[in-house]
Amino acid sequence: MGPLDLRDELLAIVGEGGVTFAANHQPDDLHDESLHPTTRLPYAVLYPTTTEQVSRIAVLASTHGIPVTPRGSGTGLSGGATPITDGFVVSFARMNKVLRLDTLDHVAVVQPGITLRELGEQLSATGLRYPVYPGELSGSLGGNVNTNAGGMRAVRHGVTRHHVLGLEVVLIDGTIVRTGGPVVKSSSGYDLTQLVIGSEGTLAMVTEVTLKLSATMPHSATILVPFRTLEEVTRIVPTIVASGLEPSMLEYLDVLTMSAITNATNLELGVLPSVVEQTAAYLIIVLETRTDHQLADDTAALAFLLEGAGALDVYVLAPTAGTRLIEARERAFWVGKAAGANEIIDVVVPRSSVPAFLSEAALIAQRHDAFISGCGHVGDGNVHLSVFLPDEEKRAALLLELFKFGIDIGGQISGEHGIGRDKQSPYLALTDPNLLALQRRIKHAFDPMQLLNPYRLLDERPLP
Ligand SMILES: Cc1cc2nc3c(=O)[nH]c(=O)nc-3n(C[C@H](O)[C@H](O)[C@H](O)COP(=O)(O)OP(=O)(O)OC[C@H]3O[C@@H](n4cnc5c(N)ncnc54)[C@H](O)[C@@H]3O)c2cc1C
Repeated sequence: MGPLDLRDELLAIVGEGGVTFAANHQPDDLHDESLHPTTRLPYAVLYPTTTEQVSRIAVLASTHGIPVTPRGSGTGLSGGATPITDGFVVSFARMNKVLRLDTLDHVAVVQPGITLRELGEQLSATGLRYPVYPGELSGSLGGNVNTNAGGMRAVRHGVTRHHVLGLEVVLIDGTIVRTGGPVVKSSSGYDLTQLVIGSEGTLAMVTEVTLKLSATMPHSATILVPFRTLEEVTRIVPTIVASGLEPSMLEYLDVLTMSAITNATNLELGVLPSVVEQTAAYLIIVLETRTDHQLADDTAALAFLLEGAGALDVYVLAPTAGTRLIEARERAFWVGKAAGANEIIDVVVPRSSVPAFLSEAALIAQRHDAFISGCGHVGDGNVHLSVFLPDEEKRAALLLELFKFGIDIGGQISGEHGIGRDKQSPYLALTDPNLLALQRRIKHAFDPMQLLNPYRLLDERPLP
């Protein structure tokens, strides 16, 4: 940071132990889980413990024109939380408490650094849960809010934005603003809660989140269903959603991804070899109900529906195997990465268009001499494809074509991982200029100096 020395000011705000400088940064604070890591050294990584400290950091940053990268757990997949050279990283790791738990109103007020796992543990005895389930439980609620995280239960419970009732945020000039509150409805002015959700740290730093909780369901079954073709798997999905059975998870995996995740976790599911031989893809369906009786009824109805749609078999897994399969499914990203995937994308399309998207994706891959394989939250039309094509330029051309096709059939480039740094170029190329211009005006209203999480989303300047 040139001649400027802000050590004393920063130590006065967060105290000893609340900041690291240059040589002492924790390596884990310098990257996220993007497949395209950039290594840049921030001037300081700060670990505030209060909103007031966050506000004072923001005032210092805006006074001196220093870029600020808000950071949760760094599990993001799009280069959204990586540091900027000579900037500040504001890590929320120490703001990780449940501030209030209201079991009558089904509301929890939490600090942004709490992880999904920690929140789940603290709710476990209450009969309530925060139902959003992005596959990485070490992700923080602040990160979830800023990426509008989705995950496996979105088909029934929706995504992060459906469970956030209010926020406390700090603007880059240090102003503290509260939006929404512990109520389930509001027609009171612009909905800034929803504007900040999914803004990838570019509008404000989230310092408190008011969450809507829901009752846990005591009975559940995990059902594994092999099919002969990927087409059959994806075609049955709208019918399952329309059946009223309300699955809480509805995932597909192609046969390669399934064998990779089960091998990686030593998981034996008891699918007969003669069935495996014929299988091209699987559906995983989780049903959750209030009573045992309803679970039995719903499972039977689902099996009937699946058999009529050409399922090779229907396996209702033993509870332990079911849990292990969902945990294995969570590992799909790591398995794709270990196999050498050059990109993992999360295009979302209308769920009835998934078959068209996947068959076009296969053709596009063929034209570009690439290999693709994948899985996804097919109940919400969200497809995660690992793309194997090392040449960067060729890969960019393939991705542009794939994203364009997804958009043309009514979809979006990213269903849940965000644009960050990694998907900026296709996002800016394929998005309506009027929409981009309006978003830029909103960004300007929040952050006129472009200091808050710069170089992501709309800001395509080269990284310093
Ligand atoms: C194995 C694996 C599986 C995953 N599965 C899913 C999945 O199924 N669904 C899904 O949606 N995602 C998934 N993800 C992605 C990731 O877990 C989510 O994006 C998560 O929301 C990131 O949370 P985080 O705390 O790690 O955020 P970070 O990576 O630290 O940050 C993400 C973004 O949020 C901003 N940010 C973080 N905290 C704040 C704050 N307090 N105020 C303002 N901005 C902030 C950052 O600047 C950045 O832009 C997966 C990741 C992995 C590694």
